[in-house]
Amino acid sequence: MRYSLRVILLFQSTFLFSAVDCSSITIIGANYVGLVVAGVLIKCDHKVYCIDKDRDKIKLLKNKQIPIYEPHLQELLFKAPQDSLSFTDSLSEVPPGDLIYICVGTPSSSEGTCDCSAIYEVIDEIVSLKRNPKIICVKSTVPPGTHAKLKQYLMKKGLLSIKLVYNPEFMREGSALEDIMTQNPLVIASDSDKAKDDIEALYAPLRMKDIPVIKTSFETAEIIKYAWNAFSALRVTFVNEVAMLCKSLNANVFTVIQGVAQSERLLPTQVLKPGPGFGGSCFPKDTIAFTKVLEEKGFLSSLVHQAILSNKNHIQAIIRDIIGLLGKEPQQKTVAVLGLSFKANTDDIRNAPSVEIISALKKQGTCIQAYDPQAIPAMKRVFPDLIYCDSVYTAIQHADCILVLTEWEEIKNLDLARASQLCNTKVLFDMRNIYDPSLAKKYGFQLFNLGRQ
Ligand code: NAD
Repeated sequence: MRYSLRVILLFQSTFLFSAVDCSSITIIGANYVGLVVAGVLIKCDHKVYCIDKDRDKIKLLKNKQIPIYEPHLQELLFKAPQDSLSFTDSLSEVPPGDLIYICVGTPSSSEGTCDCSAIYEVIDEIVSLKRNPKIICVKSTVPPGTHAKLKQYLMKKGLLSIKLVYNPEFMREGSALEDIMTQNPLVIASDSDKAKDDIEALYAPLRMKDIPVIKTSFETAEIIKYAWNAFSALRVTFVNEVAMLCKSLNANVFTVIQGVAQSERLLPTQVLKPGPGFGGSCFPKDTIAFTKVLEEKGFLSSLVHQAILSNKNHIQAIIRDIIGLLGKEPQQKTVAVLGLSFKANTDDIRNAPSVEIISALKKQGTCIQAYDPQAIPAMKRVFPDLIYCDSVYTAIQHADCILVLTEWEEIKNLDLARASQLCNTKVLFDMRNIYDPSLAKKYGFQLFNLGRQ
């Protein structure tokens, strides 16, 4: 195995710091994920009980055969000391322990929603057998919001002392062991900090390899897992669409990818930030032109089409939120718009979200006090009748809502204490996620941002 020596060394310190008793760990669901997790755990000299309700699978496993193909898994599981791993089809045959991993399947239902019933089945079984583990750690992939429901279910069933943890799995079939041991981030969610620490301690060797550890809320972890897969699917789909276009125009897809990959240098995924929608002279016009070429070649609903549509919807959703907040008499209200250019450090307002947003607010009769360090002359040509201000603070005076659209340095450095004294109503629409929510709260602002808690 390519990683074996490295991994053995790393795993020597595993579990040393764990506060839960991990002398035996129960894994429920013994297929792609459950067996790989079992392999990782027995590699650390822990006793693992694998449970699967599929008796044929258990029969195979008892005969030292794995029911799936995953490189190196067979030897990892069956070269371990004999008593370190056992298989059964019933939880009742396993001695009680502190830690239960849930690795059951969560397939699509007939409507396409995620069927989590197997997880509930497992919890019911834990209840009926009066098991009281310290931690139930879910590795199965579940839709955002599921753990809040699971927590309520545990409470309803009287399992009040059990700490629920979500530790989503990011392994890829075909390189699962390598992924878990050397690549994947460790995302751990729970209401209990101690339970998060306990699970982190299990993976101490991975931490030594500078693998990021993200400890967060259930909802954030659930979205990370879904967004991870969706983002990967989007990239694969995009490259397939580009390949078809290359095919129809006799271009070289490898060279195209080589070129496009360089865009990561200008817009690395790591620093992606949400905003009020893309604009400017290039993205809007070039994406539309690209869709025309794609349409000619038969791609009527390409990802590029969807990106344009999604951007439009995003701006409309922001407009709805602002208008909704202004209430019944928007014509009596004043909005301070901070930042007009489509991004900071340019005076370009072509296709800037500010144009569409201001236009919608004007239709409501709302008074606009606008400020931008560079883009006012350009905006005056589009909307001559706004109140243009010479500073952020003049724009904020007597405003019922502060709407931040561009992250110019001076807008980022807005003195929230001073701003709170100047405006009429302390409503802050931060469409660049630049203000610290606790600071905004400290100065009495009702803050609306884009997914920054
Ligand atoms: P799977 O469907 O292949 O295996 C699940 C196993 O759970 C099956 O063997 C099934 O018999 C067993 N099971 C179901 N209900 C049970 C019960 N009540 N008691 C005991 N056993 C039960 O699923 P998988 O591919 O191993 O994935 C498991 C979970 O992890 C899923 O939520 C999946 O989305 C997620 N995941 C999978 C991968 C992957 O590469 N396969 C990667 C990351 C996350």
